[in-house]
Amino acid sequence: MSGEPIRKIVIVGGGTAGWMAAAALSKIMGDFPGLSITLVESEAIGTVGVGEATIPQIQAFNALLGLDESEFVRETHATYKLGIEFVDWWREGHAYVHPFGTYGLDMLGIEFHHYWLRGLGLGDETPLDAYSISAMAGKAGKFLWPRRDQPNSPLSKLGYAFQFDAGRYARYLRGRAERQGVTRIEGKVVEVMQDAETGFVTAVRLESGTEVEGELFIDCSGFRSLLLGQTLGVAFTDWSKWLPCDRAVAIPCELGGDHEPLTRSTARPAGWQWRIPLQHRIGNGHVYSSAHMEQAEAEDLLLANLDGAPLAQPNHLRFLAGHRERAWEKNVVALGLAGGFLEPLESTAIHLVQSGIARLMTLFPTRDFGAQEIARYNRENEQEYIDIRDFLVLHYTATERSGSEFWDYCRNLGLPDSLAEKIAMFESSGRVIREHNELFTETSWLSVMVGQGVKAGGHHPLAGLLDEAETRKRLAHIRDVVTSTVSQMPTQDQFLVQNGSAIPVDRRAVA
Ligand code: FAD
Repeated sequence: MSGEPIRKIVIVGGGTAGWMAAAALSKIMGDFPGLSITLVESEAIGTVGVGEATIPQIQAFNALLGLDESEFVRETHATYKLGIEFVDWWREGHAYVHPFGTYGLDMLGIEFHHYWLRGLGLGDETPLDAYSISAMAGKAGKFLWPRRDQPNSPLSKLGYAFQFDAGRYARYLRGRAERQGVTRIEGKVVEVMQDAETGFVTAVRLESGTEVEGELFIDCSGFRSLLLGQTLGVAFTDWSKWLPCDRAVAIPCELGGDHEPLTRSTARPAGWQWRIPLQHRIGNGHVYSSAHMEQAEAEDLLLANLDGAPLAQPNHLRFLAGHRERAWEKNVVALGLAGGFLEPLESTAIHLVQSGIARLMTLFPTRDFGAQEIARYNRENEQEYIDIRDFLVLHYTATERSGSEFWDYCRNLGLPDSLAEKIAMFESSGRVIREHNELFTETSWLSVMVGQGVKAGGHHPLAGLLDEAETRKRLAHIRDVVTSTVSQMPTQDQFLVQNGSAIPVDRRAVA
């Protein structure tokens, strides 16, 4: 090994992770002299085929790739996502939105929610949703791009992501990656060759006998974790005691019901059901704990709760919550499911691929593979998983749902210390703490704590500087401005047509 630049990158796997990596690396490093990027995938093995909802950070990834948003939305049959609506999570019959963007208006240097909490103390029980443009527009089926240039408009507080067809997204990225010089090889990897002395991976051998040599290997082989887990033996950190769901059954159905720019998550007796409306169909799935529900019952429950006729056979999936102890070992970096998985409740898996790519770019190695960079990559990666885990656990543990063993278990989970501190702080004084620039913002933590019924013990003392009448007046004014702005926004369907992102109606029935 030497300090020479890497010349051969091999990506194993062509699911969402593989093609995201291929598209990004070829875009950023494509002009590097003598560099080759090869992606190996096996159509016979196939991909997970789910993974349709995202979070706003994906806009940065699309921008990095230079994607035109209207084209991207059209090609992936995407819809906009203004947040997630959680139904029956706190208690049956209750719903709240975890919106993207921010709430209300900060006043006198104090975050808005402290005024909302003060209003609550004064008897104004208007839900937090009423102060979020994303939540209100989402529920009304409306969409418009944010207007950061209009700081006084609620539209400046709107945040959005996308819901798209995962298969189309991978194909779309593949087209770009191949145009940017990536070589795709079809074939099944049957052997991973290693240097006898160092254990570094030197090549993968395909069923056909072809050997694909590389210096840096990116393992995007999905749950198999062919290189990192199977070959290099990096152990899996199992978090199923905190996140007990370990199965999913997914099925697309025809369009029906609302067509809101929101992902919906409905709590079920041993897990929850997702509903993701795309332009041409609805993606549905039931995530559940196999210790608390049989597969047949989980499937029946899903099929009984679709808004349209099924468009495929149910797809059953198994997983374990957690991550590989080290995502980067020797000359192998795992992205996507090969590196770990936290269930899709907050749509974070595609984001973890994106942030893994960004981190790899920042710490990109030479053929030396410096221990310092690898250690940093692994530390940051693990911290990101921990942050997301805590946020997910909050949804399960702060609930009044009862009457099923699953929810009784979740309500009584021993909390990770980091999460326990966040809840204790909110219960003490209504403060929301966000650590080390973690993925989920104060808005996210606030929305889920309030939505799941965690009670704030007070509010920031300075929010009390406004007297009662003034507090009520300002809260009402913010609500009114949000409502009137939403009333003037186009529906999402109108918006898609206006921006040339709608797919033709005759293609909408195609799954
Ligand atoms: P895969 O899609 O499994 O791809 C693996 C690739 O490796 C395939 O191309 C396969 O052919 C190849 N491969 C494997 N073995 C070999 C071999 N021996 N030789 C050659 N090639 C091989 N994420 C989100 O962001 N939002 C969501 O809403 C969301 N929902 C999800 C719901 C469920 C139930 C699950 C399980 C996941 C969800 N995800 C979601 C995660 C998302 O689907 C994945 O993170 C994403 O698709 C990346 O998958 P992947 O590319 O790592 O793996």
